[in-house]
Amino acid sequence: MSSRSSVSALDRLRALHGETDRRFTSAVAGLPVGCGSGCFACCQDGLTVWEVEAAAIEAHVRELALQVSPSEGAGCAFLDRDGRCQVYDARPYVCRSQGAVLRWSQSAGDGAADPTSIGEARATCDQHLQGVSLDTLPLAQTFALGPAESALVTLATEHHAEQGRRGLPERVALRTLAEGLAQLRATPDTGPTG
Ligand code: SF4
Ligand code: SF4
Repeated sequence: MSSRSSVSALDRLRALHGETDRRFTSAVAGLPVGCGSGCFACCQDGLTVWEVEAAAIEAHVRELALQVSPSEGAGCAFLDRDGRCQVYDARPYVCRSQGAVLRWSQSAGDGAADPTSIGEARATCDQHLQGVSLDTLPLAQTFALGPAESALVTLATEHHAEQGRRGLPERVALRTLAEGLAQLRATPDTGPTG
């Protein structure tokens, strides 16, 4: 069995994505979640991802010889004309958790009797779950934020180092990525560059 350090950050990212999908499926079980083909209000333009997630998308596009056509509308550049994600199987972490009831810790903040006390916040997409009381849902029907985001930052940093780059990893705009991948059609397969 491979040690952790022998597995590339890209492969560990894929494992994180798989675990995220399992957590999402478990969290929405039994809830009238509206996510599905044709619903894409959450696929907004302007999203950015870590370099390692951009590399995963590029590798997916190259492997399947996909022909990416950046959308020109107000949504994410990876939406196709029917509102489907052109890189669904390699979509980034943030796209895999949308639609669940997200749960995270936050301090009470200024004005509270104890501003240092830690409370819990919950929210979900406003396109569905109307009438569902998010605050009373059992924990099993929520998706905790925090640990996976921390793991993602670690993977981004390690991938950056694996590529021989110094400094901190950078964020990549999905539109910039999609426009770059659209140029691959006439480019020989030289392997992922991310
Ligand atoms: S998160 Fe909301 S907008 Fe996105 S697919 Fe699910 S229901 Fe639709
Ligand atoms: S990458 Fe795919 S799932 Fe994510 S916002 Fe863009 S179109 Fe939506």
